[in-house]
Amino acid sequence: MTKHIFVTGGVVSSLGKGLTSASIGMLLESRGLSVRMQKLDPYINVDPGTMSPYQHGEVYVLDDGSETDLDLGHYERFTHSPLSRDSNWTTGQIYQSVIDKERRGVYLGKTVQVIPHITNEIKDCIRRLASDDVDVVITEIGGTIGDIESLPFLEAIRQFSNDVGKENCCFIHLTLVPYLKAARELKTKPTQHSVGQLRQIGIQPDFIVCRTEHPIAQEDIEKIALFCNVRADHVVEELDADFSIYEVPLSLLDHKIDQMLVDRLGLVNAKQPDLSKWHEILNVLHKPQAEVTIAVVGKYAKHKDAYKSIYEALDHGGIANIANIRILRIQSEDVAREETRALLEKVNGILVPGGFGDRGVEGKIDAIRIAREHKIPFFGICLGMQCAVVEYARNVLGMRDANSTEFDKDVEYPVICLMDEQRSVTDMGGTMRLGAQPTCLLAGSRAASAYGTLDIEERHRHRYEFNYEYRDRFIDGGLTISGTSPDGKLVEVVEIEDHPWFVAVQYHPEFKSKPTVPHPLFRAFVAAAIRYKRALNGVEVE
Ligand code: GLN
Repeated sequence: MTKHIFVTGGVVSSLGKGLTSASIGMLLESRGLSVRMQKLDPYINVDPGTMSPYQHGEVYVLDDGSETDLDLGHYERFTHSPLSRDSNWTTGQIYQSVIDKERRGVYLGKTVQVIPHITNEIKDCIRRLASDDVDVVITEIGGTIGDIESLPFLEAIRQFSNDVGKENCCFIHLTLVPYLKAARELKTKPTQHSVGQLRQIGIQPDFIVCRTEHPIAQEDIEKIALFCNVRADHVVEELDADFSIYEVPLSLLDHKIDQMLVDRLGLVNAKQPDLSKWHEILNVLHKPQAEVTIAVVGKYAKHKDAYKSIYEALDHGGIANIANIRILRIQSEDVAREETRALLEKVNGILVPGGFGDRGVEGKIDAIRIAREHKIPFFGICLGMQCAVVEYARNVLGMRDANSTEFDKDVEYPVICLMDEQRSVTDMGGTMRLGAQPTCLLAGSRAASAYGTLDIEERHRHRYEFNYEYRDRFIDGGLTISGTSPDGKLVEVVEIEDHPWFVAVQYHPEFKSKPTVPHPLFRAFVAAAIRYKRALNGVEVE
């Protein structure tokens, strides 16, 4: 029978529930168990696809094209849990589905209510992940205990634990134990209050994981245990991982959370944990043999989570090359400034990520020009690829007035234009070209050599594309089209041969990179940056 773990959060938001849930999933997998991960988000938006990255961080795209919360990125990077539309539900989706049923007459004229109709719908979403070959489903509840909008989800998991039996379910509550500088003390009261609120709605946590900047004394652990009605060994400290997020699972392992969960849920098939791969990653991170500086030039550079998967994938590229990556976040509008340009000329690699809207686009195009002319390794992703095409058209092919029609509808040379199937689209949510799509690579290209194969599948999220009408002009002008859709119509990858490493892709490779399996293009980009730096410093390059 599938066992269930529910992860809730208290005291403040941004405690890293996603990372903690993913770490627990990873630890259970390391014991040979099969795990499924899921996030239930209390906001009304149907999915995060239309939410601003400033507010919500990056939109994480799955193979099946669903646009999801960035925590699902942690799940995919840390575990092997297959993720799909069923892995992320919002209040908006739950209500939409209940209202659709009501319109179809499914409820036979009954009054449709939060309890039982909304809560039943939520329970169905949880149950859908359980099956004979799944040992554990981990369900993370978004938001913070005390929020009005999370109540139906909490009520649903309370009922769920009764439905399947308390021995098959457990609740983990993640809280903050803040340090008061003036008193030089850690404070447990917020945790007590937060657990108090949970208990009021009928949920008694089995484990309390305490985020803290300082180690928690045994005395405080016992105090939390006493006031919150949990066993002292079930109060687990989660010290801030200043060095790397990949330390989080190891620190939870030190506190034996995996063993306690195995015991609590009676997971009799669990083996001893095997974390050798994870230790190797941390060894590399602790003892890199090289360091490179990569500039990420984007519109949302100031927001720490807006390019989350890109930053992580760069780190993975570093792991693959035993190198430390210094990421320089550059606000694209700043590229107009002399000092920013000077800074860009000194980096070892430039990456321009995806994005929407015209703000900062000219800065991205200028950054790409610097990379092309100074022969600095360049990696363009989605909008970054489209900007690379515009830059090439303007500055190499002499089409001074070239642009994407996303930014200028009446431009003379629309080298990037709206895809045909997008012309009649009026709804913004879930209507882009989304999810895994096949790409055929050109033999002998940089992309093909990085992947080591010609047939790949990568995730997409865009409305605009390389304008087919200009294809021959680009090819004649020296741009290599090294990847297309199988019918040859959509351009997926472009490269410049006469450059150390200039590769730009229409898709999002960052969503398929893991610390244990770094993405081939990030690996090759970082390798190129290392070669470039060595050549600059006059070090013999092999
Ligand atoms: N705005 C561009 C498009 O819609 C690029 C999208 C992206 O970078 N994800 O095609």
